[in-house]
Amino acid sequence: MMDCELCGKKAVGKAVVENTVVSVCENCSSMGKIVHEERKVRMPDKKRIQAPDEIYFVPNFASVVKNARESLSLSREALAERIKEKSNIIDHIEKGSRPEKHVAQKLEKILKVRIISSIESERISNEKRPSDPLTLGDIVTIRKRKK
Ligand SMILES: [Zn+2]
Repeated sequence: MMDCELCGKKAVGKAVVENTVVSVCENCSSMGKIVHEERKVRMPDKKRIQAPDEIYFVPNFASVVKNARESLSLSREALAERIKEKSNIIDHIEKGSRPEKHVAQKLEKILKVRIISSIESERISNEKRPSDPLTLGDIVTIRKRKK
């Protein structure tokens, strides 16, 4: 489910807030200009607006980090020290929480692995975009495709 990017409640649509398209809930939608998706967001495969700093991880990044760290015989603390981050950050990452971009990049460098994915397909298929209301344009397109 998509959450309101302003307050975290369930989003009902998208709105332009300060020139950025964000998902908003009913309350927050009054803060921005609601965009109708068929206008520009609906180009095939380009419909997701990617925040500038949003990155995607390879699906098994947690075990990639863990395996690489262990093969270098680094303790979690030692690795954290190498990337100049708090020692528990490695613990979190190996349990599956996504590191920030700069942390991920440092990890990639030191561990010589790839954990940042350049594609977002994985994420899209996980989310399936269930809360996007269909526009009339969509319904027409879907019908055409089915024939
Ligand atoms: Zn909200």
